[in-house]
Amino acid sequence: MSVIGIDFGNEGCYVAAARSGGIETLANDYSLRATPSVVAFDGKKRIIGVAAKNQQVTNMKNTVGGFKRLLGRKFNDPHVQHELKSIPARVEARNDGSIGFKVNYLQEDQHFSPEQLTAMLFTKLKETSAAAMQTQVNDCVIACPVFFTNAERRALLDAAQIAGLNVLRLMNETTATALAYGFYKNDLFEDKPRNVIFVDFGHSALQVSACVFTKGKLKMLASSWDQIGGRDIDLALAEYFTKEFLERYKINAKTNARANLRLLTEIEKLKKQMSANSTKLPLNIECFLDDVDVSSSMQRSQMEELCAPVLQRVEQTFKKLLAESKLSLDEIHSVEIVGGSTRIPSIKQLIEQVFNKPASTTLNQDEAVSRGAALQCAIMSPAVRVREFGVTDIQNYAVKVLWDGDGSSSNGEVEIFPQFHPSPFSRLVTIARKGPFNASIVYGQQVPYPDQTIGVWKIKDVKPTERGESQDVKLKVRINQNGIVLISSATLVDRKEQEEAAAAGEQAAAAEEKSAGEQAAPNAAESADGQPEGNDKTKKKTTKAIELPMEVATHGFNPADLSNFTQQESKMISNDQKETERIDAKNALEEFVYDMRNKLQGGQLERYVVESERESIVAQLNDLENWLYEEGEDCERETYTNRLTALQKQTDPIKLRAHDYEQCPAGFDELKNSI
Ligand code: ATP
Ligand code: MG
Repeated sequence: MSVIGIDFGNEGCYVAAARSGGIETLANDYSLRATPSVVAFDGKKRIIGVAAKNQQVTNMKNTVGGFKRLLGRKFNDPHVQHELKSIPARVEARNDGSIGFKVNYLQEDQHFSPEQLTAMLFTKLKETSAAAMQTQVNDCVIACPVFFTNAERRALLDAAQIAGLNVLRLMNETTATALAYGFYKNDLFEDKPRNVIFVDFGHSALQVSACVFTKGKLKMLASSWDQIGGRDIDLALAEYFTKEFLERYKINAKTNARANLRLLTEIEKLKKQMSANSTKLPLNIECFLDDVDVSSSMQRSQMEELCAPVLQRVEQTFKKLLAESKLSLDEIHSVEIVGGSTRIPSIKQLIEQVFNKPASTTLNQDEAVSRGAALQCAIMSPAVRVREFGVTDIQNYAVKVLWDGDGSSSNGEVEIFPQFHPSPFSRLVTIARKGPFNASIVYGQQVPYPDQTIGVWKIKDVKPTERGESQDVKLKVRINQNGIVLISSATLVDRKEQEEAAAAGEQAAAAEEKSAGEQAAPNAAESADGQPEGNDKTKKKTTKAIELPMEVATHGFNPADLSNFTQQESKMISNDQKETERIDAKNALEEFVYDMRNKLQGGQLERYVVESERESIVAQLNDLENWLYEEGEDCERETYTNRLTALQKQTDPIKLRAHDYEQCPAGFDELKNSI
């Protein structure tokens, strides 16, 4: 069994594995460490990762990328509409309002959701890991952006489940980076906290987090983010070149999706070159549109001018983090950078300007997130033995609990977790009620998602006491290890107080908090209904705590849909495998034809076969070659293997003769002479 960490980027993914010797970033089937987050389809199979990206220009309608930012969202969400402008695939709203990418797969039009496409990508990463590690992979930690809301986190977990991955934790990307940094630092001390800022500027997002390290531990302090990334720089440059080409060549790249994609690809290359070079660099595209070749150039200062609005937002995000972390410049030990877009010199300059420190590159900029996630997976999984390292993350948005009134008592609300509260964590809210009621968890601040509600829990079976009084219902509100907030339990606590009874109910709850590595809930949250508990410390509550049934409405697929999608994914995996085997069988036959013909005609087998036999076999090989390009182009695997076996039956004796001769040439000649 092996454990892995996944960095699922908007542009590309990285997978790292924890082995006893350390952490290793795994290479895919193209010997590359980055697997593009792209899924494509053709008549017979799925194409995922490098191969999908490579064929995008020629199969645009059936190639989908950029789906990370669509997870857990509806089609008419303004954010989705904005994202879709830069995704050239076909997409529609499904009946339930969800997003359906329309592709032609297995000779018919089919729809896939962003969650299903993510699952397909995860399937590929799972295969990459299994091939590299020579063992099945199940446990993983997946990194996700710090700003992902409940719906997006649940969608990511659903995608992992569809792909059959067992997620031990969804980990914020900058927290994973922080772990990759802290784990190998042996100059961290108990009494000398070290504050480090982590900047991740990727393809679609900027995330900045402050973290404090002590020996063997890290604690996240604050995060800030903006949904801008390298692609916004590409788009700003594309706008410029499109205008220029329109003026100079009278061609409009925007009218042609393929031309636009080619332009963006060339711009990205140019942008990367500009990071290392401040002189003027060329941009040439042959047969761009209407057979016209286009050429232009740009230098770094010009790019910076065009991207001024992006750079401004980057600066604001840095400043916001500085304010929210409450760290003074002197208290910051270093600013570590990761993510492809931090290679841009003006981003490094902004870091120095705002934090008064040069950007530090201790970490591998591309692999740090996946390596941190793999370390976390190793720490959590019993399959691999590694040193402990304590990770305390944060809840990036304030969270409130709201509950309905029930006639005799009014509705209420409490901010249960302020922004940047440590996580995981549980808190209790006590509400006096005589009957069933609804409790909701909502974000207590604006979030980058159209719906502020995390979920609504119907708390059932609540009854008044025999004397008609209300009873205390304790809701345990939890931020779990995935950064998902939920009501994990509701219990009815019998109001009858017994002087001598042990406070087992309370103690049990407190013990549970501690065993989860968390602090016990403070009384303020306990008394969220405005009726402070435990005023009289000598009186202790009875142990009679009854677990109440709950019904929850929150984001994510329902179990039936999830099971459907999982089955569908399994079918597609086995279909892909069959198709790969079929293509392999065809290739093997084709290779045999060429190889054997060469060997029989002037090659090493020629002298071991009589003329008539050779001519007959070569004729069959020629026929087969023609057949492979015509009616034999698209046959079942067995057809190819049967033909190969039939041929081998004829050629094996020739090979055997050659073999025998090589083993004992003298004996062979003797035999030949005696015939
Ligand atoms: P995200 O984190 O937003 O989900 P991601 O993890 O896929 O996306 P990264 O791999 O960190 O993103 O970064 C990819 C971005 O970095 C692309 O926009 C790419 O153009 C940009 N990039 C990579 N190398 C360079 C470079 N040398 N100079 C400028 N930009 C670069
Ligand atoms: Mg990233």
